[in-house]
Amino acid sequence: MMICEAKEVVSGLADILFPAQCQTCGAVLIGDGGDIFCSNCLSTVRFTTAPQCTSCGRPFEATQGADHLCEECILSRPPFSVARSLGVYEGALLDVIHLFKYHGKISVGEALGRMMAQAPYDSLAIGDYSLIIPVPLHPKRLRERGFNQSLILARQVSKQFSIPLEFLVLRRTLHTEAQVTLSGRRRRANVKGAFEVTDPSGTQGHKILLIDDVYTTGSTAAECSKVLMKSGAKEVAVLTLARA
Ligand SMILES: [Zn+2]
Ligand SMILES: [Zn+2]
Repeated sequence: MMICEAKEVVSGLADILFPAQCQTCGAVLIGDGGDIFCSNCLSTVRFTTAPQCTSCGRPFEATQGADHLCEECILSRPPFSVARSLGVYEGALLDVIHLFKYHGKISVGEALGRMMAQAPYDSLAIGDYSLIIPVPLHPKRLRERGFNQSLILARQVSKQFSIPLEFLVLRRTLHTEAQVTLSGRRRRANVKGAFEVTDPSGTQGHKILLIDDVYTTGSTAAECSKVLMKSGAKEVAVLTLARA
């Protein structure tokens, strides 16, 4: 009890001395707008809403109507059951993802991970999954960046839902070009054969929630899912922060 109170006093003091600021515009946060955004900036975040593709989560132009399969998923069903994102990769959400990923603001990443865990998703209930796996980085990229952004997000989701986190079983064996610079077809070719499961007993029979930061063409998510399904996973669903 005493320790709890002391902790509260210290964190209260820290709030006065170093008030939390909006990570986008710098406004002081006075208990609104969540952990990282002021209410103004939060209002620019476009959270993904229906109607969207029941499988890959592609948002449709229409603002009303039921979810259905998109053309691409009708032609070829992805190896994951469902892919969902917190929001659209633009505006304030894009800014904070850059702060986290390219400027090493880990605390921003942790706050984004908590947002990701708390948001509701159509056709995806995080609590239904038995294992959380972040999309791995190749060791070379990990050395360059110093952290795996997907692992930081995954850790928050794992913590909030008490779902085990496994970040060694899926490995990136090929150092590929950054997906950002490539077109759709080249992205798929770029990640083909880039991942492997080190120990299938770690994935067998699991309902896996795969976590990544940004979903662009879905080729990374699809390639990881394919490898995990081949290694005996019962299901793989994909959760990302933002959809490009
Ligand atoms: Zn702001
Ligand atoms: Zn689709």
